[in-house]
Amino acid sequence: KSITKKILITGGAGFIGSHVVRYFVNTYPDDLIFNLDALTYAGNLENLKDIQDKSNYKFVKGDITDEAFVNRLFIEYKFDSIIHLAAESHVDRSIKDPLAFAKTNILGTMVLLNAFKALWQHSWEGKRFYHISTDEVYGSLGATGFFTETTAYDPNSPYSASKASSDHFVRAYGETFGMPYVISNCSNNYGPNQFPEKLIPLFINNIINNKPLPVYGDGNYTRDWLYVMDHAVAIDLIYHEGKNGETYNIGGFNEWKNIDLVKLLCKLMDKKLGRAKGTSEKLITFVKDRPGHDLRYAIDATKINKELGWKPSVTFEEGLDKAIDWYLENEEWLTHVTSGEYQKYYNKQYGK
Ligand code: NAD
Repeated sequence: KSITKKILITGGAGFIGSHVVRYFVNTYPDDLIFNLDALTYAGNLENLKDIQDKSNYKFVKGDITDEAFVNRLFIEYKFDSIIHLAAESHVDRSIKDPLAFAKTNILGTMVLLNAFKALWQHSWEGKRFYHISTDEVYGSLGATGFFTETTAYDPNSPYSASKASSDHFVRAYGETFGMPYVISNCSNNYGPNQFPEKLIPLFINNIINNKPLPVYGDGNYTRDWLYVMDHAVAIDLIYHEGKNGETYNIGGFNEWKNIDLVKLLCKLMDKKLGRAKGTSEKLITFVKDRPGHDLRYAIDATKINKELGWKPSVTFEEGLDKAIDWYLENEEWLTHVTSGEYQKYYNKQYGK
């Protein structure tokens, strides 16, 4: 069988990455999909059990900040394109350990850019570096307005500052070395396989276990939410049809105040678990605000909608319903990730 393209997906064992890897492996059987992931606490190969034996899929364990290793890998496999998702991704962790975020998100991205440049700088034809980023680079909105692709960067957390920096480096490699690139900035994702430190899976897990639901500040923070599969489909479209040198904002047209979202989640969970109405809401506890907390993010996704014909396939209520069902049907997954059991799975599957 002839392989048409070698695509390197970084961070493919993580939440969004695992959906992207699966989508590409199943949709493009003639492409060879490499998944490079360091398997940090957030990387879990159990997410990809169903495709691990496919002939067009290859997992490589490694750290994107390890320059010698990345360079060797690129020389060995000569990837045609990269879809770069590997990152430290949790804002609260970035407040505790900003340097870890600079290392992976900034330096790691640069190591990949350099390795890609070394391979193809004499002929970029048919090559592409696709950087996956966040709407958090734009900072915070007031009660009105939306982030567009031309909104000035104004990051407030070490996480968003590191992602903003990596976006700038990708653009700089485009301008300076002619590297063909695209960037997309997406709003908050939710859905199956999300590590339960993030709001929706954390709260689903806590409701199941009758544990408090810690809501920051007054709960009035507003976020736009997108079902993770809709993000994967947008990534596929941008990868194949996006224009070089362009940025695309991806959003769910779906803004929720945290407190309203948590109340909806509680209502759905009571129903699913057969508990009396109002049971889960009693678990809500307001906790001290996160420092530098952005009030509101909202994405204007007109460009990707108009130019590439993308729009979300599910409403928030449908997506949340599906996500909850998945966590309830996969309680073993939840137990494994909360107890670090998936490391054992890796060792069993691949050896140390
Ligand atoms: P995640 O934390 O679930 O997964 C990150 C993956 O990267 C993990 O598998 C981890 O093992 C891997 N990784 C971390 N450091 C690495 C390193 N040094 N070398 C190799 N692999 C490493 O993250 P996610 O939520 O799936 O986010 C993926 C990407 O999408 C990130 O770039 C993030 O900034 C971006 N993003 C996320 C959201 C969201 O709502 N989760 C929204 C917009 C953009």
